[in-house]
Amino acid sequence: MNFSDQTKSSDMKTDHIGFIGLGNMGYPMAKNLERAGFPLAVYNRNIAKAKDFEHHTTVQSSIVELVQSNDVIFSMLTDDKAVLEVYGIILEQEIQGKLFVDMSTISRGASVALAAKLKERGASFLDAPVAGSTKPAADGTLIIMVGGEQADLERARPYLEKMGKSIKHLGENGKGIAAKLAINYFLSIIYQGLAETILFSDKLGIGRSDMLEIINDSASGSGATKVKTPLLIAEDYKPAFALDLMLKDIRLAQQAGANYPLIGTLLDTYQKAQGNGLGQQDVIGIIESIKQFSI
Ligand code: NAP
Repeated sequence: MNFSDQTKSSDMKTDHIGFIGLGNMGYPMAKNLERAGFPLAVYNRNIAKAKDFEHHTTVQSSIVELVQSNDVIFSMLTDDKAVLEVYGIILEQEIQGKLFVDMSTISRGASVALAAKLKERGASFLDAPVAGSTKPAADGTLIIMVGGEQADLERARPYLEKMGKSIKHLGENGKGIAAKLAINYFLSIIYQGLAETILFSDKLGIGRSDMLEIINDSASGSGATKVKTPLLIAEDYKPAFALDLMLKDIRLAQQAGANYPLIGTLLDTYQKAQGNGLGQQDVIGIIESIKQFSI
């Protein structure tokens, strides 16, 4: 679909799209919006990450300018602190009629409170966090979990469809984040299970390539195990999803009520790995930390 088709039936005005946060995820997501031909403006705190956009995309040097000149604004930021800082600036602007779509993984409480504040100012808000890492972000095949009003989702849908293969509307504001915390709880368990299994098979003298092929061909293999296979074989943990972010999400799950038998173990494992300086490595780098503690 070309951006000339992106009209609102009520006033035939084309929405201008803004994107804040061009990190590991935000950059490829914004690139997909650019590729689709939408009138796009991007902002990143470290402006160096905003290079490589085409001439028809506007690179803004401030959040204020980005918000003033756009109608539907996506954000993909680290955590509560980052989102609250960015939206603190946004809330000081004239934002009547604008739609904000936060795709970051943050706490449910912060997200719901933000939705209420934006609504008080005449703007709309969707929480729309994603499942899938940098490859699905680049391929436009993320799973997008949405909380908020149906009409707002319909306004955002043409853009979300360029970033994700599946858009799940789960109910009111906060429900998208709720689903995201649940799936990442599962993911943190998978990664710890995978790391322990590989260490166990190492100990028994089975080559990593052989073991990972067996896992991936079996019922216990998944997209999550497949995507971490090359990192485990190369023992090189360049981040697609940083361990710091996974630990953030386990803590958010605990705050949201995940008081199940594994939560303490997960916190202990990922905290120790962070303490061992692995926080900026990929999440599956926990294997290096578990190895030290299990010798
Ligand atoms: P990232 O690479 O660390 O990017 C974080 C982005 O937030 C950067 O653009 C960063 O700007 C910006 N930022 C941080 N603090 C800021 C502040 N105070 N003001 C303005 N901008 C700020 O993280 P990511 O991997 O893209 O993840 C983004 C979100 O998606 C996180 O909530 C994460 O949990 C979630 N997520 C990640 C993955 C994944 O596989 N990576 C998958 C699903 C969901 P600078 O460049 O200036 O630092």
